Amino acid sequence: MERLYIPGIVTGMTITLKHFFKKKTTVRYPEVKREFSEIYRGRHVLKRDDLGRERCTACGLCALACPAEAISMIAAERKPEEENLYREEKYAKVYEINMLRCIFCGLCEEACPKEAIFLTKETVQSGYEREGFIYGKEKLTEPADPDKRIDISKRQTPEVIEFKKNKTFRHNI
Ligand code: SF4
Ligand code: SF4
Repeated sequence: MERLYIPGIVTGMTITLKHFFKKKTTVRYPEVKREFSEIYRGRHVLKRDDLGRERCTACGLCALACPAEAISMIAAERKPEEENLYREEKYAKVYEINMLRCIFCGLCEEACPKEAIFLTKETVQSGYEREGFIYGKEKLTEPADPDKRIDISKRQTPEVIEFKKNKTFRHNI
């Protein structure tokens, strides 16, 4: 019987037919996209404050916390006429994340004392050139237009949101 191969063929076809009518677990990407979790850890955003000023003060804590050494920056001092651009006296003149190194662990977000960097639901676009994966401020900073800001409230715990309402802390202004 074994040399007739028939039992083997019948068993194989039965398995194939069983899977044929099962619900598919794959999707036809990119036409169909899966819903991401609200707290999915995708590409980063550098946040602005309510007045549209960049929150980052180039303290370097995110770079220090990063296990992949993906973050680099150059700090600069804010000039008096730049108070409407940068929230703190020191700001990141250059801020870069190497998306090929990043493992999207979220430690930079946790380390930041200024709530300046958050991960978002957005994915990093594919590309053919390595240089295209070094994201600078032009790609990372959110738009100044209040209607185009990136909502990161889902990434914050209710305790943090409650704490932020306390305007007696300069950090929350
Ligand atoms: S998500 Fe993790 S690996 Fe990526 S830049 Fe932040 S700390 Fe580094
Ligand atoms: S993003 Fe946050 S932790 Fe990183 S340099 Fe700016 S203020 Fe510091």
